[in-house]
Amino acid sequence: MTALTTADDAVARLREVLRERLFTAGDEGYDAARLPWNLVTDQRPYAVAVPRTADEVATVVQAAAASGLRIAPQATGHGAGPLRGTDLGDTIVVSLREMRDVAVDPGARTATLQGGAVWHDVLAAATPHGLTAAHGSAGDVSVVGYALGGGVSFYGRTHGLAVNGVRRARVVVADGSIVTASADENPELFWALRGGAGAFGVVVELTIDLLPYSDVFAGLMLWDGSRAADVARAWVTWTATAPETTTTSLRIMHFPPLPELPPFVSGRSVVAIDGAVLEGDAAAAEILAPLRALEPEMDTFGRIPAAALTAVHMDPPEPSAAVSEHAMLTALDDAFVDAFVTAAFAARPMISEIRHCGGAFARPAADAGAVSALEGDYLLSALTIVPVPPAVPGGLAACGAVVDAVRPWRGPGVALTFVDLPDRDVTAGFGAGAARLAALRRERDPEGIFVAAHPVG
Ligand SMILES: Cc1cc2nc3c(=O)[nH]c(=O)nc-3n(C[C@H](O)[C@H](O)[C@H](O)COP(=O)(O)OP(=O)(O)OC[C@H]3O[C@@H](n4cnc5c(N)ncnc54)[C@H](O)[C@@H]3O)c2cc1C
Repeated sequence: MTALTTADDAVARLREVLRERLFTAGDEGYDAARLPWNLVTDQRPYAVAVPRTADEVATVVQAAAASGLRIAPQATGHGAGPLRGTDLGDTIVVSLREMRDVAVDPGARTATLQGGAVWHDVLAAATPHGLTAAHGSAGDVSVVGYALGGGVSFYGRTHGLAVNGVRRARVVVADGSIVTASADENPELFWALRGGAGAFGVVVELTIDLLPYSDVFAGLMLWDGSRAADVARAWVTWTATAPETTTTSLRIMHFPPLPELPPFVSGRSVVAIDGAVLEGDAAAAEILAPLRALEPEMDTFGRIPAAALTAVHMDPPEPSAAVSEHAMLTALDDAFVDAFVTAAFAARPMISEIRHCGGAFARPAADAGAVSALEGDYLLSALTIVPVPPAVPGGLAACGAVVDAVRPWRGPGVALTFVDLPDRDVTAGFGAGAARLAALRRERDPEGIFVAAHPVG
């Protein structure tokens, strides 16, 4: 890298602009500022900048470019897992957490949001207009990190990956300028961002399509873990014919006995099916009937406000330390169920999950970006909480054992938003566009300023 000024000069300049929103090691507040949502990544960047405007972001990137520092865009740190072990000693983490404004255009059915907005922010703005969005299972994940990585939602078998609903972005690129990327302006960059995300710049504003639902038929069914094999077998059979209006997930979960957990899961192994059915009540009930015939001990499926869908999956509301593995799967059968259930109980990661994909998830959009569809009918992920660093190797082994156990059913696909480990080759996640994406990255960021969770090329 060709440095025009020193890193100290850059920090001095940024302190003038950001004042108490610039943190370096030794500053009070550095430790609180540097930690991502996924606490497994104990990131120690050269500095953390917390801008409030696009111009401030541009100033940070310009200062970094001039001084040979790198930039890691981060909104919440939910996706920080792949940065575990990355030396960020020459990197400024640009934390977008104070850029969360959202404006909804109900006529166009779009939301325009700042680069750090999370799904709860979008839903709060969209709900009064009877609209919702293609959010994932957790409302505190950021729109930019999720949607530009693909975005697997409970609306997905009908509406596809969330990335296909991205209409426009404003981005601070490697030379520190702010550019617009859309189908009409900088279309190459627009193509690259949809998959390449933070490898191409810091997104300061994004416009996305909203979905026309004010309520949704959704919920969760739960059984004791002893029912795992028959419930999983029935779910696999049922998904083979479930309509594209229906997107569900099956999980086998092992919970420690903790007072902060709901009593119906604390200290238990359970199997759960949750998701959404985009149908009227009677049709939804008919679709779910084969699962209800399995007599769940808990069944919350019913019509709920669309924004409440973020609560159905019961993702942890607080930052936590976790590791996970994933794989895309193709056609499943009874032998798969035996292998999956046996591994989920033998290796015991906290969660062994299969999401039903296919449908619109598998169809690229007409105006597709680099990432537009998921190759594979199901998405397997195994996740476990690792409260202290010595728990990491065991957690990785547990997650890896579940993914390894179903090797015969694995396909070549990769769901980028589920790649949570360092040193994973994410090329397959970029599909046929991988080489073009890598070439564009080299052209637009030749110095390699941007440090993304999922590097391109
Ligand atoms: C509890 C939980 C539930 C989840 N549920 C789902 C789910 O249902 N479906 C699904 O598909 N995924 C899900 N994920 C995965 C999640 O979508 C990814 O981890 C995603 O990358 C998180 O985005 P983030 O911006 O919040 O995280 P961050 O760690 O802040 O960002 C991750 C990466 O996104 C990019 N990025 C973020 N913001 C910007 C920006 N403003 N400009 C440029 N680049 C940016 C950067 O490359 C960054 O490295 C879940 C994760 C967790 C922890």
